[in-house]
This record gives sequence, structure tokens and C-alpha cells, in this order.
Amino acid sequence: MKIIDGKKIAAEIKKEIADKVQERAAKKLAIPHLAAIIVGEDGASKTYIESIRRACKEVGFISSIYQYAENISEEELLASIDFLNRDEEVHGYIIQLPLPKHISMEHVIAHVDPEKDMDCFHPVNNGKLFLGEAKYLPATPYGTVELMKRAGIEVAGKHCVVLGRSNIVGKPLAMLLAEKSAYGNATVTICHSRTQNLKEVCASADILLVAIGKPEMITADYVKKGATVIDIGIHRIPDPETEKGYRICGDVKYDEVVSQCSAITPVPGGVGPMTMVCLMLNTLHSAEEKDTK
Ligand code: NDP
Repeated sequence: MKIIDGKKIAAEIKKEIADKVQERAAKKLAIPHLAAIIVGEDGASKTYIESIRRACKEVGFISSIYQYAENISEEELLASIDFLNRDEEVHGYIIQLPLPKHISMEHVIAHVDPEKDMDCFHPVNNGKLFLGEAKYLPATPYGTVELMKRAGIEVAGKHCVVLGRSNIVGKPLAMLLAEKSAYGNATVTICHSRTQNLKEVCASADILLVAIGKPEMITADYVKKGATVIDIGIHRIPDPETEKGYRICGDVKYDEVVSQCSAITPVPGGVGPMTMVCLMLNTLHSAEEKDTK
């Protein structure tokens, strides 16, 4: 049984990115620059943005954070996006979600220049993903397939069951796995809250990829003996027995499932660390693409 070490693989990728940044600096090419827009005071969002800033520093990227008050108007936010679209020195940016209710997420996403859309939320980038022509990939699905590739999990020809159909995780992940590419060539089933016989469908998977947002819902009876289990979920749940009063877990009941499978991602330390490095990879690709223009 193999425990897939996402932390180690993410660190290797970070090192590769940092080496490329040094090579770029030696050749006097532009240093990749990632910006982030954050609106409001949501604690989890602030932590995520801070970890982006730290990761940029580690690999040698430039980062800029645009922090706005909760009551910023939609016009003001769109103007800030226009500014980033025009800024020749910024290679890409993300907009941290959720946005306040008075701002339309659709308007905001449509306003992003697809060339700088590091989260790959823009309909043009989603369309390109669907056509197998993606320039950037959405960070979490990208992290998931890159993790499997680097961990030596063979996907081609396998039955992959993707549990969850959100626009940012489940759907793009299923598309990547089905694609005729180095990440794909799998036979893919997508499950969701209306799937009938969910347990049976999951138990038919060679590779079960779980993104449902339900702490530890996937127990051993959802998993075929010898399957690979990729847990994308991440939760902080109360646990009075720990010093901090909480623990981090995934959508999979790890302790129960671990003996059932041939390979599994832990939470934390599995898919999570890959998301950030994939955002970095998108930014590096954007900078490399700009070199050729
Ligand atoms: P969403 O809530 O947007 O989507 C959840 C999906 O799971 C939906 O398609 C929903 O079905 C389905 N679902 C929910 N409950 C059940 C159920 N009981 N049975 C079957 N299907 C169910 O979540 P996200 O895709 O945004 O995130 C999924 C998980 O991944 C979360 O735990 C999140 O924290 C984690 N995550 C981790 C990231 C990382 O970097 N590691 C990044 C992003 C997310 P329906 O469509 O019918 O409602």
C-alpha cells in the first residue's frame, strides 16, 4: 500500500519552478508576477492569500496583493481588474472567492483577461479545457492529475469515478481524466448527490477521486479492494482530544479505507499542497508564453 506524499511532490515541483526562475533571471527574462485580489475579511481567504504570497517568495516570483473592503462596489472591482489586465508586468492573477453578495461573480469572471486567468475560471479557458486546448488548468484538478502522474499512478484505460461535479473541481477533473493526453485516457464516471447506488458505482472504480465536501463520508464499503483513492476534500472538524481542539480531515474516512486500497492520498499532505504549486505553474507558463510574443 502506497501513501502518496503530496507534500514531497509539491516541494519537488517548487524546486523545479525556483530553478526556472533563476534561469530566467540569468537570461534577463521577466520574473513571473502573480497578483491576487481579495475582498473583505474572510479569515480562510486571508490565510490562503498569505500562503500564495509566501509560496511566490519561496520560488522567486513577484507577488502583489490587492485587498479591498467588503463594501467595494462592482464598478470599482471591475476597474481594478481592468488595471491588472492592462499591467504589462503582471503575468496572471486570481480573484479570491467568495465575493460579497452585491457583486456578480459572473460579471467579475467575464471581465478577467483569459490570458491572465490563473484560476482558469473564465468561460474561454473552460471551453479550451473542454476542447483539449487548455493553456492553463484549474489549480486543484491540475494538482490532482499532476500528483497521480508523478506518483506513478497509471490512469490510461482505468475506470475513474469522480465524486462531485462542481465547476472548479469535479467537472474539470473528469474532463482532464477523459482527455486524450498524458493525464488522461481513462474511462470516467461522474457522480453527484442525485446518483443512484452511489456505493456500488464508487466500488466499481479502479481510481476513486472524491470531492464532495462531506467530512469522512467515504467509508471502506465505497472502495474496491486494491483501488487507488484520491481525497480532494479538506475540512477542519472539532476534536476535543487534540491540543488545538480540532483536526484536519478529508472526504474519505482514511483510517478505515487505507487498508482497502493500493494507494491513497492523506489529508493533510495529499492533494492540498499541489493546488498552490499548480497556480505557480500556470503563472510560469504565462510568463514563458509572453517571452514568445
Ligand atoms: P461543492 O460543494 O461545490 O461540490 C460538491 C459536489 O459533491 C457537488 O457536485 C455535490 O452534488 C456532490 N455531493 C455533495 N454531497 C454528496 C453526497 N452525499 N453524495 C454524492 N454527491 C454529493 O464542493 P467543491 O467541489 O468546491 O469542493 C469539494 C471538496 O474539495 C471540499 O471538501 C473542498 O473543501 C475541497 N477542495 C479542496 C481543494 C484543495 O486545494 N485541496 C480546493 C477546492 C476544494 P450536487 O452537484 O448534486 O449538489
